[in-house]
Amino acid sequence: MNYEFLIKELFLMTGSIGFIFCLNLLSSPKTAKKGNILGMLSMCVIIIVYVYEISNCVKKTEILLILLFLSTFIGLLTSKKIKMTEMPQLVAVFNGLGGLSSTFVSIVEILNTIKKEGVINNYELLIAMSGIMIGAITFTGSFVAYLKLQELISSSCIIFYGHKTITTFTILILLLTVIFCNYNNSNIEIINICLFFSLFFSFFLGILLVIPIGGADMPVVISLLNSYSGIAACLAGFVINNKVLIISGSLVGASGIILTKLMCQAMNRSIINVTFGAFYIKVSDSLKQIKENYAREYLPVDAAILLNNSNKVIIVPGYGLAVSQAQHNIKEISNILKENNINVKYAIHPVAGRMPGHMNVLLAEADVSYEDLLDLEQVNQEFEDTDTVLIVGANDVVNPLARTEKTSPIYGMPILNADKSKNIIVFKRGKGKGFSGIDNPLFYMEKTGTIYGDAKKSIVNLINEIKALNNK
Ligand code: NAP
Repeated sequence: MNYEFLIKELFLMTGSIGFIFCLNLLSSPKTAKKGNILGMLSMCVIIIVYVYEISNCVKKTEILLILLFLSTFIGLLTSKKIKMTEMPQLVAVFNGLGGLSSTFVSIVEILNTIKKEGVINNYELLIAMSGIMIGAITFTGSFVAYLKLQELISSSCIIFYGHKTITTFTILILLLTVIFCNYNNSNIEIINICLFFSLFFSFFLGILLVIPIGGADMPVVISLLNSYSGIAACLAGFVINNKVLIISGSLVGASGIILTKLMCQAMNRSIINVTFGAFYIKVSDSLKQIKENYAREYLPVDAAILLNNSNKVIIVPGYGLAVSQAQHNIKEISNILKENNINVKYAIHPVAGRMPGHMNVLLAEADVSYEDLLDLEQVNQEFEDTDTVLIVGANDVVNPLARTEKTSPIYGMPILNADKSKNIIVFKRGKGKGFSGIDNPLFYMEKTGTIYGDAKKSIVNLINEIKALNNK
């Protein structure tokens, strides 16, 4: 019996099972940290097994170790430098690089097989070419998503003349390339040309598919690309017959697609509509009208008086909370209000911020109790009998136009019904719009007042005012 083989398989199985439990733990903010640690440990086990195996047969352990230390160093440096608000961009980069690696693995395997055996069977070729294409689409698609999220190019939908026709032709060329390649599976020159074609046109297709998607749909695209990178890895796993790659790739692929579906549900859109329904943002008359309206300004003392006279307060956090890092300050203000016997809850919209669970992560960092966090369905019935809502850097997720304005890019997205409460206090820096690029009529309602400035500073001022009132 080959014990070395058995031990290796045992370790690989342990690592793979670790990934499954890691995903399970990641599904709740309470256990997510443990899930991350388990995922890292599982990955370490698998890396050690492969480093040991490779160093046994190629005796190039030094190179492997140098690469391992170098990548660990880059990983550590990135994790230290990246801000919370830049996580979606980081995920986009990870997805893209994952897709590119799978593409390279499949290309090398096709070329190796042909070199060794003179021919590659059609089944293997089909899987490898699918891996190459999905990986390459993921790479350029993620790159475009990164540019949009980083606002290096316009984050709204970009469509050029003949966009759909060119996309259709590109898909056709790719299909024909795969068919042609399969008919010539022993001709190395034709296979080389087909590989070049499939690579080039898949890179191009990635750009064509992601560039028209914009605004509020970007998180869905990131999640979809995450799923693609998993599928590409899974296909690469089949090509090189690597079980761990197949298991981890399918886990990423499946979880990515489930998350995409959940996000689409949260925005009341279908995946097809998000991917192919690039819509043209038309500013209707009612949206134009909003721009001419007046937004009342509150001083911190006005807000403090309102809060002191409230019995029930709901805090709606949004992307601006992440930008200003005011999570500890809103925890402090909610503690002060609770000490004054005011009922305080947090309303969490599933796509508030810039990544799924963004608000949960921030509030968990400030030790806000999970019992105080209410999701969209739970909280929406509560607004009507709420005295004051504090909107901290949120915009699209409380925009009533999503209910009424058909030409609005967020039409149909379920929103937090903050506009139904008795009083609204908004924290924002100026006249900035939400991620979808449209204005928000909630800011101009009679019962709304805005405290302008960075949310953190404004909340600190507000806390001081409440304390001053309480000491009188
Ligand atoms: P939002 O619509 O992007 O609005 C953010 C608001 O915060 C703006 O009104 C901005 O106005 C204000 N703000 C920014 N920095 C601030 C600061 N330092 N202090 C105070 N206010 C500040 O945010 P949201 O309501 O959370 O909605 C999220 C949007 O992002 C949705 O459209 C969603 O679809 C999209 N999205 C979500 C994800 C996800 O997975 N969660 C990922 C990507 C995109 P000022 O500029 O005037 O301050």
